Amino acid sequence: MRFDEPMEAHTTFRVGGPADVYVRPAGAEELARLRRFARRHMLPTFILGGGANIVVGDRGLRALVVDVGDINHVRITGERMTVGAGLPVSDAAEQAAAAGLGGLDFLYSMPGSTGGAVWMNARCYGSSIIEILEQVDYLDEDGARHVMIPDPNQFGYKRTPFQTNNWIIVDARFLLHAEKESTVRSRMESYKADRTSKGHFAWPCAGSLFKNNRDFGEPTGKLLDRLGLRGTRIGGAKISDLHANIVVNDRNATASDIDALARLMEERAREAFGIELEREVLFVGEWPDRSR
Ligand SMILES: Cc1cc2nc3c(=O)[nH]c(=O)nc-3n(C[C@H](O)[C@H](O)[C@H](O)COP(=O)(O)OP(=O)(O)OC[C@H]3O[C@@H](n4cnc5c(N)ncnc54)[C@H](O)[C@@H]3O)c2cc1C
Repeated sequence: MRFDEPMEAHTTFRVGGPADVYVRPAGAEELARLRRFARRHMLPTFILGGGANIVVGDRGLRALVVDVGDINHVRITGERMTVGAGLPVSDAAEQAAAAGLGGLDFLYSMPGSTGGAVWMNARCYGSSIIEILEQVDYLDEDGARHVMIPDPNQFGYKRTPFQTNNWIIVDARFLLHAEKESTVRSRMESYKADRTSKGHFAWPCAGSLFKNNRDFGEPTGKLLDRLGLRGTRIGGAKISDLHANIVVNDRNATASDIDALARLMEERAREAFGIELEREVLFVGEWPDRSR
């Protein structure tokens, strides 16, 4: 357990002030005990996966931050694979490939944990995690463990029931398929090469800042491109030169720099196209401007 833990050390954007208390439970049983303790003492809790889809305010998080990184077990039975919430989803894809299983490979090289990918119904290269998700074990607000058989109707584009319930994902079971390891790996390498070409790993970031919206008629990145915003900078944050929907921290940005750039993009899209962009990256913790 640590006090005043700098969140910049736990997010892919490398920004964020201190969390009041930070804990990293050793396993699912300790996680459940922590949840019950937090409930009994009414402590606000924030569950941290890989920190790949959050911007924590510069003033930090007034919460007990629970890092699930050590809940990283893997069990493979036939074509079924159960993965602890804290295991990086890319490592899960790697282990699946090594076992001659395809199906998780589309998430190879995407930053973040397996639990975080389930929480968001992560999507890339034409697939979403719900397509392979067979079961999720989670803790409710009282720390009781439940099994969910996901109903695909409750999962949509970057939308899941976990976003509207205060549950903690413990592990997820995926239904994969037997496939030659070399075939799976060649797909994995092509995904990684594509991400590299888009600069995903060149600077700290959290991937796409805004969601795509079918009503816009084209991907948000393409819309923002028409505004000629690539390269626009506020403080240490910049709209990527390689992708108009990605903001990067290339010069010791603050969380407020990133927020200011996000607002500028929102304003420009509103003025030019009359649309409201929806943030995909979650802005959490304390911010100077309470009205945000
Ligand atoms: C370079 C880059 C590229 C990216 N590309 C993509 C992409 O192609 N497609 C895509 O969908 N996303 C992409 N992302 C965003 C990010 O990788 C995903 O959203 C990822 O699933 C976030 O997982 P995480 O573990 O980092 O979640 P975090 O950022 O740690 O948390 C996000 C939310 O999930 C909650 N959460 C996390 N774990 C749990 C748990 N076990 N139980 C309950 N709640 C939990 C947190 O409380 C928080 O509300 C990209 C990010 C980067 C940095």
